[in-house]
Amino acid sequence: MLRIAIQAKGRLNEKTVALLADAGISASIGSRSLIAHAKGFPVDLLLLRDDDIPQAVAMGTADIGIVGLNEVMEKDADVVRVLDLGFGGCRLSLAVPREADYKDLGWFEGKRIATSYPAILSRFLKEKNINAKIHTITGSVEIAPAVGMADSIFDIVSSGGTLIQNGLVEVASVVESQAVLIATPGLPTDKQEELDKLCFRFRSIIESRGMKYVLMNLPKVSLDEAIKVLPGMKSPTILPLADSDWVSVHAVIPESQLWERIEKLKAIGAEDILVLVLENIVK
Ligand code: ATP
Ligand code: MG
Repeated sequence: MLRIAIQAKGRLNEKTVALLADAGISASIGSRSLIAHAKGFPVDLLLLRDDDIPQAVAMGTADIGIVGLNEVMEKDADVVRVLDLGFGGCRLSLAVPREADYKDLGWFEGKRIATSYPAILSRFLKEKNINAKIHTITGSVEIAPAVGMADSIFDIVSSGGTLIQNGLVEVASVVESQAVLIATPGLPTDKQEELDKLCFRFRSIIESRGMKYVLMNLPKVSLDEAIKVLPGMKSPTILPLADSDWVSVHAVIPESQLWERIEKLKAIGAEDILVLVLENIVK
């Protein structure tokens, strides 16, 4: 039975639990429990702080885990990065006070940088040949310059709103991160097989995210035009209708392009357009 480490609570917890549920794995997770037995797939869930997940997986306490790539890199954990999961996106960036006279990375020479990611930062500074003082703090890194604890910060940024609120400007993005599935190196065959099955489910869920299934009735004369608008996964599916002047066209469209394409399709005569949620794409 696979044991999977996930964040007990925090930013990754909800989407992790949702991904597991979409993959058919549900568990009733009590607020204080450390381990939950899942239904639907032979896995136990180990609920941890995200900081502890890379090490738990490296040591084999958990066989696999879901955690931010930033934590995996910071802990330099000996784990296999199995799959990028497409949520929890953020970056680790250097930021300086708005009024700083910043031109390039040379600014950081001799400066104090507050961070919760000292290992990633010191690797970066070494690579760039910059001597700076790293102040490791665990919370509220962004207030460090204002209270005089540091000259600048190295921290997680997603929208950038927190930086602006604290009078800081992002000057260099060092690492791009997202939630990743990691595994203990050299899992025994039976566990590797279970992991492969799980990955297959995760991939099909991730691929279907942001995609819509669209079907419509279309005058046959507009078919060539419609095919140009609707590349689909291979090509759109065309089904005959009882009225031989019309066809039914089905296609998968990225959500970001949905309305633009629908407008084009309407313009060439498409009618009765249905947009459906796509749950899985199994390849
Ligand atoms: P824990 O109690 O598990 O140690 P935490 O407080 O260290 O939790 P969270 O704030 O819950 O961590 O963030 C978990 C992960 O979410 C981060 O390590 C990062 O990978 C990702 N993340 C995505 N966007 C953001 C963001 N704007 N701020 C912080 N983390 C983010
Ligand atoms: Mg943490």
